[in-house]
Amino acid sequence: MKVTIRVDVTMDYGETESFEICQLERPYRELDPARIGLSLAEGKDVLHRLQRIVVAAQAEEVCLLRRFCDRCHRFLDLKDRRICKVDTVFGTVRFRSARVISCACVLPFHFEGPYGPMSEYVPERATPELLAL
Ligand SMILES: [Zn+2]
Repeated sequence: MKVTIRVDVTMDYGETESFEICQLERPYRELDPARIGLSLAEGKDVLHRLQRIVVAAQAEEVCLLRRFCDRCHRFLDLKDRRICKVDTVFGTVRFRSARVISCACVLPFHFEGPYGPMSEYVPERATPELLAL
């Protein structure tokens, strides 16, 4: 038997992308009690891979949707992209995060400068769930 684990990610703006997480092989002829189901290591690996996909998709969605100015609806320029990381209950995950040039129409500063939209959601280097543990 071969088991393929895939995940479909559908963004709030309707775009769907599929990702293959992994393939597990359980040949009938090699089956033994230790190879029934997933091992603890395989389960942790699947969750870590899934976490990487979810966090990367969230960062992509946040960085794209935050590029529209709430006030004047202008599509804001991109300063650059950086690799960020966050420690989660399923391991450390790296993701690409954009820095957006803020819109000059936003009060009170009327200032165009770079900011990272994901820093609002990942203010610490670890998720609140991991910090609570
Ligand atoms: Zn604006």
